[in-house]
Amino acid sequence: MSKRIVIIGGGIAGLSAGIYSQRNGFDTEIIEMNNLPGGQCTAWDRKGYRFDHCLHWLVGTARGPYHQIWKETNVINDGVKIIDQEIHTKVVDENGDEFIIYTNIDRWKNYLLEMAPEDSISINRMCNEMKKISILETSSNPPGMRSWVDSLNMYIKIMPVIPLFLRYKTKTVHDYIEILNFKNRRLIYFLDALYGQSDFSVIAFLMMLSWFDQNNAGYLVGGSLPLTIRMSEKYKALGGKLSLVNKADKIIVSNDKATGIILSNGTRIDADYVISAADGYTTIFKMLDGKYQTEQIKEAYTSWPLFTPFVQVSFGINKKIKSTVANQLFLAKGMSIGRTSLEKGYTLMNYSFDTTMAPREKTVIILRFESPWELWKDLSGEEYLTEKKQIEKDAVAILKKQFPEVDQYLEVIDIATPKTGVRYTGVWKGSYEGFLPTNQNLTKNIGMTLPKLNNFYMCGQWLSPGGGIPPAAQSGKWAIQLICKKEQMKFTAE
Ligand SMILES: Cc1cc2nc3c(=O)[nH]c(=O)nc-3n(C[C@H](O)[C@H](O)[C@H](O)COP(=O)(O)OP(=O)(O)OC[C@H]3O[C@@H](n4cnc5c(N)ncnc54)[C@H](O)[C@@H]3O)c2cc1C
Repeated sequence: MSKRIVIIGGGIAGLSAGIYSQRNGFDTEIIEMNNLPGGQCTAWDRKGYRFDHCLHWLVGTARGPYHQIWKETNVINDGVKIIDQEIHTKVVDENGDEFIIYTNIDRWKNYLLEMAPEDSISINRMCNEMKKISILETSSNPPGMRSWVDSLNMYIKIMPVIPLFLRYKTKTVHDYIEILNFKNRRLIYFLDALYGQSDFSVIAFLMMLSWFDQNNAGYLVGGSLPLTIRMSEKYKALGGKLSLVNKADKIIVSNDKATGIILSNGTRIDADYVISAADGYTTIFKMLDGKYQTEQIKEAYTSWPLFTPFVQVSFGINKKIKSTVANQLFLAKGMSIGRTSLEKGYTLMNYSFDTTMAPREKTVIILRFESPWELWKDLSGEEYLTEKKQIEKDAVAILKKQFPEVDQYLEVIDIATPKTGVRYTGVWKGSYEGFLPTNQNLTKNIGMTLPKLNNFYMCGQWLSPGGGIPPAAQSGKWAIQLICKKEQMKFTAE
C-alpha cells in the first residue's frame, strides 16, 4: 500500500509537493481552503478582462535548477510563450524626470555612463559585480541531501564570487551606494529611491538584475492563472486528489509525530506524513499551537521585516492603449491614495504586451502601491468600503494624469487590498513574499522540518527570506526528496 501524504494548501508550494509526491508513488491529497488552487499566484476575470495578481517575472525561465522544476511541473512546456522585457522598470519622479533600468546590463551600463560620466569607475564596478554574481545558483537538492561531490562542485563553481559575497553579505543597497561613492546626484537619488529605503540586501539586488541580464527571469504569456492551472492539471493527471473549499484547522500530533489533520468542519484526515504549504505563521502558531518553535523561528517571526503588502487597482479600458514599457514606477513624495501615503510611489503596469489579458482593442492597466498592514488590519464594514471608494477616486485621478480621456473608456475598476489577500489565502499580514531579504537575514532560513516533530514538513514562501514562486515550488520538491530519503526510496523527478 502507498504511504499517504496530506498537504495543507494548494498554492505553488503545495501543488509542487503534490506533483512530486504522486510521481514518487505516494497517495496524496491537497487540502485547499479557497475554491481554486494557486494561492497568491492568481488572477480574476471581470467582464472579459483578466486582472493578474502575481506574475511579473519568473526566475528560471531559461536555465538552472528552477528551470528544471518548471519543466517537471508543467509550468513551462513547449506551448508556453516567454517574454523577456527590455526594460525592467521606468521610473518617473514628481518633476517628470525619468530613469530607466534596462534588463540587459551592458545596455544599462551605457545608459548610466551617458548620464553620469563622472561615475564611470563606480558604474563599471557595479555592472561587473552584477555579471559576476550571476554564477551564484540555488542547489538542486535540499540541505541534508547534498553529497560532498555536489558541495565540492558547487564550491568550485562559486569560488570566484566568494570574496564579493563575503564583502557584501551584511550590506544594504543604501550601503552599497555609499561604498561605490557615486557623485552624480541624479543617479544616487534614483537608485536610493528604488532600492535604498529599506534594509534590502545588496546581494539580492545584484542577483535580481543579473537574472534579467541572462534572460532567465521572463514573463509567461497568460500570467499567473494558466500557470497554476497547468500545475494542478499535472497533479490531477498523476492521480493526485485536490480538495477545494476545505480548511485545515489543526495538525494531529501523537507522540511527537504528525499523523493527520483536522478540518474546520471537524473531519479528520489520517496520513503517514503531513506537509504544510499554508501560511507559515498559521502553521506554526495556530495549527501546531506554537509548540515546536525553534530559535530561528522565534527570531524570524519577531524581528525579520516583511514585504509590505500591496493595494492593486485594476482598470479594464475599452480602448487600445499601447505602451513600449510594461512597468513604470512613479515617485510621489507627499501624495496619498486613500489613507496610504505613497512613500515608495506607485506602479502602473500596462498589460498590452500580453494579448490574453483583455479583449481585442481593449486594455488592462494595473496600478499598485504598498500599503502597510497596520492601516488595514482593523478596517471593516462601512469604514473599509469607504476607504475602497476613496482609493478608486484617487486612483482614477492618477490614471487621468497619464491618459486624460480615460474615464470615457473605463469599463471596470477592481480593487484588491491587503485584506483581500489575507481573506483568500491567509497570508500573514498580507506579506506577499514573506520575509524581506535584508543584510541581516539573507543567509538564514527556517528549516523544512521541526526538530522535535516527526513526519512533518513545511514548504512555501515563508522558509527563506525573499519568497516568490521559485523557492515556493522548490521547497515543495525538496519536501518530497526528504520524505523519499526517510522512506529509503530513490527520488524521481521525471
Ligand atoms: C501582487 C503580487 C505580485 C507578485 N509577483 C511575483 C512575481 O512576479 N514573481 C514571483 O516569483 N513571485 C511573485 N509574487 C509572490 C508569489 O505569489 C508568492 O511568493 C508565492 O505564490 C507563494 O506561494 P506559496 O505556495 O508559498 O504560498 P501561498 O500562495 O500563500 O499559498 C498558500 C496556500 O495555502 C492555502 N491555505 C492557507 N491556510 C490554509 C488552511 N488552513 N487550510 C487549507 N488551505 C490553506 C491558501 O489558500 C493558499 O492557497 C507576487 C505576489 C503578489 C501578491
